[in-house]
Amino acid sequence: MLDKTRQDWASLADGLSIESRAFINGRYTDSLSGETRATMSPADGRHLAEVANCGPEDADRAVATARAAFENGVWSAMAPADRKAVLVRWAQLIEDNADEIALLECLDVGKPIADTTGVDVPSAVRTIRWTGEAIDKVYDQISPTPADCLALVQRLPLGVVAAIVPWNFPLSTTAWKLAPSLGTGNSVILKPASNTPLSALRIAGLASEAGLPDGVLQVLPGPGGSLGRHLALHNDIDGLTFTGSTEVGKQLMQYSGESNLKRTFLELGGKSPNIVFADSNLEKAAMFAAIAVFYNGGQTCTAGTRLIVEETIREKFVEMVVAQSRNWMPGDPLDPATAMGPMIDSGQLKAVAEYVDIGKQEGAALMSGGKQVMTDSGGCYHEPTIFDGVNNDMRIAKEEIFGPVMSVIGFKSAEEAVAIANDSIYGLAGAVWSNNINTAHKVAAAVRVGTMGINNYFGGDVTVPFGGFKQSGNGRDKSMHAFDDYTELKTTWIEFD
Ligand code: NAP
Repeated sequence: MLDKTRQDWASLADGLSIESRAFINGRYTDSLSGETRATMSPADGRHLAEVANCGPEDADRAVATARAAFENGVWSAMAPADRKAVLVRWAQLIEDNADEIALLECLDVGKPIADTTGVDVPSAVRTIRWTGEAIDKVYDQISPTPADCLALVQRLPLGVVAAIVPWNFPLSTTAWKLAPSLGTGNSVILKPASNTPLSALRIAGLASEAGLPDGVLQVLPGPGGSLGRHLALHNDIDGLTFTGSTEVGKQLMQYSGESNLKRTFLELGGKSPNIVFADSNLEKAAMFAAIAVFYNGGQTCTAGTRLIVEETIREKFVEMVVAQSRNWMPGDPLDPATAMGPMIDSGQLKAVAEYVDIGKQEGAALMSGGKQVMTDSGGCYHEPTIFDGVNNDMRIAKEEIFGPVMSVIGFKSAEEAVAIANDSIYGLAGAVWSNNINTAHKVAAAVRVGTMGINNYFGGDVTVPFGGFKQSGNGRDKSMHAFDDYTELKTTWIEFD
């Protein structure tokens, strides 16, 4: 990546051949209706591709294909060591094509090329490789029975799984879903977000090349409201795994209840607290406070959007964070020097602008940013924005903005910091900064979130589970715990004569 300039990436983008058909039964195919949907780059509005727009009839075809593949055992009954070999080869093929896939993700999502080459693609490769390598190390159990009995506790795949993912981390969330669901022997139908289908379509073909049998993986681009809903209501889908908004997650639980009670696992929204004590390394804390909220333009479920700062240092610390925010002025995602790209689309940009107005009306103090920029680019760019003097009852402190907007809230005691942090419908992530080991541990333990950092933000890797408390969801992506979402436990009780 470091050897390429903006011009190099732009030339590669011009020559890119983009796969835009659905992927069913090991082949790329048009939607049955022949309908397509244009996908545009949020960086400059350029038309990238006409992507197959699948509907319920395509879903039925994909489900029947997935079911047949599951039942014939071509993958579900394969030895775990052989499934491992396929997943590891798939990871290698993604790595071999890293530049092309990183470029697709950059163009489709508007993510800076430095992020897609440095984070998104390597993390997808590592997720698939690590999970593949783990799958033949998972042992089932024998329970402690009387001597005249033997009881087996086995993990079996669910069957057919639907995975629905969002636009903000398309490749990473796809890898988080596909690696453990395929690894445990399921057949899978992936529905990418309508805005960002390209990287998932590309890596589906690589899965076949790696040896994944036909029919085990299908990728269907199409609208959530019709295609996604149809999958969630489908009576022949056994499991549903979702990453997206809390609002849609609630609908999916209802669809499951209205249909066949398919196992439903949800990774949802957040409004994460980032708590800074006066005794922490303030330089580092300020740098990470900015990273926590401006990385990916704040379009990150775990974004540290509520900066909760000890009152004695609040004024000084906010100045430090404002200084850091200048490193996050948006730029062209194809430029390797760009740290923050555009919002995903004009709707998201408008939503961010509305929240900036709400913050002003609520009486918060706008310390920096607050405006749309690069208006002649054809893209949707917004300045990194910081509000001070926020209280936790304001809408900008309660609601997920999903843009580069930070709300700073002061506290006087550790108890108050914890109370503010926990006063949220969400419980996805958070962090605490303190050089006092007692303070750091006590606060980290008391904050009700799925992932908590101490003196870091966004820490973690594929070896640890990821998911939320409260309305941030259920189930877990990543780590060996992800296998729980895609398997049923079966007991076999044997009695001897
Ligand atoms: P979204 O609107 O909930 O959409 C997510 C996915 O669901 C998309 O593929 C969407 O399709 C589909 N969908 C929409 N309505 C549906 C319905 N009625 N039935 C079935 N599927 C439906 O979320 P988003 O705006 O793409 O992503 C942002 C949200 O994701 C934020 O809330 C963020 O916090 C959350 N997120 C959470 C995590 C996590 O791991 N906890 C990670 C990343 C993002 P269309 O694209 O066609 O609308």
